[in-house]
Amino acid sequence: MTVQNFRHRVMLSKDNILKQSYERVADDFEELRTIVVNLVNENADLRRVRTASQAPKPLIRHVGRVNYYFVADDGPYCVRCYEQDRELHYLTAQQQYPAGTGRHCQRCKTIYIESSSRP
Ligand SMILES: [Zn+2]
Repeated sequence: MTVQNFRHRVMLSKDNILKQSYERVADDFEELRTIVVNLVNENADLRRVRTASQAPKPLIRHVGRVNYYFVADDGPYCVRCYEQDRELHYLTAQQQYPAGTGRHCQRCKTIYIESSSRP
């Protein structure tokens, strides 16, 4: 017998005690359902927090005269983009600039000079 059929048969019954008992059980069930839904939502939130906290955090590392962000050995990432927008953007490979050797960010156009061109 499905829950719907059971409810229907109880409602057709002339037994008022049975009807009251059924209503109490139905109320308890609804209360339990609310608790389960809240627990499922809370569990999903906790899982999200745990996943976020397990992701490797970008750490700053000194390279020549500048600092870059790295995630383990992955990088270097732009410091400005990360600190302003919490976004990781790779820097270019090392290049020569008028001021020296360094890298730049293609997103925010910041140039990082690691060592001066002067001998
Ligand atoms: Zn940038």
